[in-house]
Amino acid sequence: MKPSVYWTEDCPRPPDLPVSPLPETVDVAIIGGGYTGLNAALALRKAGASVAILEKESIGWGASSRNGGMALTGLKESMPVIFRRYGAEMGRAFWQWSLDAVDYVERLTTEEGIDCNFVRSGHLLLAFKPQHFAHFVEEVRWFRKQLGYTDLWVVGKAELHCEIGSTAYHGGLVDPRSAGLHPARYVFGLAQAAARQGVLLVERTALMDIRRIRTGFLVNTNCGTLSASEVLIATNGYTTNVIRPLRQGIFPVGSYIITTEPLPVSLQQELSPRGRMCFDSKHFLNYFRLTPDGRMLFGGRHNLSPSLDLIDSARKMQARMVEVFPQLAGVPISHTWNGNLGIALDLMPHAGRVNGVHYAYAYAGHGVSIASFLGKEMGEVLAGKRTSTLFAQINHPRYAFVPYDRFYLPLVSGWFRLLDFFT
Ligand SMILES: Cc1cc2nc3c(=O)[nH]c(=O)nc-3n(C[C@H](O)[C@H](O)[C@H](O)COP(=O)(O)OP(=O)(O)OC[C@H]3O[C@@H](n4cnc5c(N)ncnc54)[C@H](O)[C@@H]3O)c2cc1C
Repeated sequence: MKPSVYWTEDCPRPPDLPVSPLPETVDVAIIGGGYTGLNAALALRKAGASVAILEKESIGWGASSRNGGMALTGLKESMPVIFRRYGAEMGRAFWQWSLDAVDYVERLTTEEGIDCNFVRSGHLLLAFKPQHFAHFVEEVRWFRKQLGYTDLWVVGKAELHCEIGSTAYHGGLVDPRSAGLHPARYVFGLAQAAARQGVLLVERTALMDIRRIRTGFLVNTNCGTLSASEVLIATNGYTTNVIRPLRQGIFPVGSYIITTEPLPVSLQQELSPRGRMCFDSKHFLNYFRLTPDGRMLFGGRHNLSPSLDLIDSARKMQARMVEVFPQLAGVPISHTWNGNLGIALDLMPHAGRVNGVHYAYAYAGHGVSIASFLGKEMGEVLAGKRTSTLFAQINHPRYAFVPYDRFYLPLVSGWFRLLDFFT
């Protein structure tokens, strides 16, 4: 078992990706070279702006090359809660936006010729307890009534074998509009498209400090200083204290993944006959799917910490995977890795401007489509092509205690474990 990312081993960063030294001046400096930053850069170049992406490691190094590759409809917060909190009109707009985000990724990858195994496989939400399935049934009714959305359906426990080769769950909820893709192929394809269109990709360059000047900003990095009229922070789960109010609005959470060696085709068919993107209804949820080359990819966490031991976490994840799929007992694990998600206290994505600097983050495990589409919209805001985005219009909870998450994350983890036991 290798403690490394399967996706980037299958599709490494292209060695011929054109990278640039730090320029002296650009219209827009983007900090962070993942889906948010690259999609913003593409939109900005379309509008004729000069753009540099500053990435502390290499382009795509963060969550964008390490995730489960599930481009999901909806947001992390449930739509009924979103309706109660923001009202029906805004709720409908958020839902439609989430569908548009998946469509956007499909359109963009087609237009840019990014071969990233994008397939509308649909997603399957699995009921961990019988009462969760009862809730799915209500949810289908709610979606029909409030959103006119008729694409969702439930699958009872007796029929679940048509969807998944496991008896561990009490039914499922299917949305066929979600999709699966190869995250590393997607992010490196985006990087190549951005480079083709003249975006400067500046690697191994970390933002250290930003100062306001008359013409915009002085961006200080470990490789020197750049002046930019505007700055977009696109660092999501890797956001640091450089701009304190930004760090106070997000907490980074670790997510852990294992993959098996490729499985025989008959076993792939048995475990996931429809090739759906699957996840369950726990707080500490598990998510899983087959990779394009037929491995089982199984992810989740037993703790919110971003720095658990990868081998120990793989053993625990393997035990959980075998509880769900006893057929995988004894199948060797090929890779184990982790990455950081960014979550806000209200479970909503957030975007806007703070201390003059723009930002977009907190996708809470839904960033494949949301970071892409929100990144594009933020690029359009910076290019003056739109005035705002939906996510800039909601209150963004920020608290001084948030950056001290190592003190309270263990307590939150304990609380989630209790919730998973009792609810
Ligand atoms: C294990 C895992 C599984 C996931 N599964 C899914 C999934 O199946 N579906 C889904 O929708 N979402 C999933 N997500 C979430 C999704 O991957 C993210 O929401 C998305 O990739 C965020 O993109 P981003 O560009 O905003 O951030 P990232 O891709 O994380 O990029 C941020 C970049 O900022 C850089 N950076 C940080 N600080 C600095 C600095 N000071 N200077 C310069 N650069 C800096 C980092 O090096 C990093 O490369 C998963 C995440 C993880 C970790």
